[in-house]
Amino acid sequence: MLEVSNLSAGYGQIEVLHGLSFEVRKGQVVTLIGSNGAGKTTTMRALSGMIRPRAGSIRLNGREVGGLDSHDVARSGLAHSPEGRRVFATLSVEDNLTLGAFPRLTGSRPKGDVAADRDRAFELFPRLKERREQLAGTLSGGEQQMLAMGRALMLRPEILLLDEPSMGLAPKLVEEVFRIIRRLKDEQVTMLLVEQFAMAALGVADHAYVLENGHIRFQGPAAQLRNDPAVRAAYLGGS
Ligand code: ATP
Repeated sequence: MLEVSNLSAGYGQIEVLHGLSFEVRKGQVVTLIGSNGAGKTTTMRALSGMIRPRAGSIRLNGREVGGLDSHDVARSGLAHSPEGRRVFATLSVEDNLTLGAFPRLTGSRPKGDVAADRDRAFELFPRLKERREQLAGTLSGGEQQMLAMGRALMLRPEILLLDEPSMGLAPKLVEEVFRIIRRLKDEQVTMLLVEQFAMAALGVADHAYVLENGHIRFQGPAAQLRNDPAVRAAYLGGS
């Protein structure tokens, strides 16, 4: 599904990712863990075309998407729910969701019924349904996070990138976000997940990669990493 090899990327003079290789297979949930500044968000940005890779290849279903701009990457079926709730503040909840489907409608992927997909997003996130006419900028932080996820799902993605979906949420909402991730997994949605709650991420993931200073240090089945004393001590802290 997603095959990344020797990916390097950074900002200005600074290289942050130094030749990462990893893969996500169809129907799998894969998590990237690592300490602050390891390069997790940068990896997500490079995959989705928000920043341009400097070297390496990113293949989605065998097709090279590295170097495409973010709209074209989305058209190929990669949806990114970025860190920090990037929603269109001056548009309604409903219009934000509709825009999420746009790259799919202009690409060669199945068009499908946008209204039905919106209803499905409202079913997953009932809070959004109650607020469908509300301007996204006036939603609470947690609601904006849900909208960012809902909008990414509107793409009917081949793979969904979730960057810190629980960031800044109250504990009850964190549970809700993980419940939704589990449900999407049951529905065979392929996902790449970055989470501050590394133990919870390893609990839902099939496979995990540990990033350190822009390199992959370990990888393995998530359950194995979850129980590895060295990994726990170094990366999982008390989470
Ligand atoms: P965290 O868990 O703290 O979010 P992370 O693993 O997601 O960390 P990144 O956000 O990818 O880490 O950051 C990796 C490095 O890149 C850091 O040293 C950071 O300061 C730097 N960096 C991130 N964004 C930018 C930017 N827009 N411009 C310059 N440097 C950046």
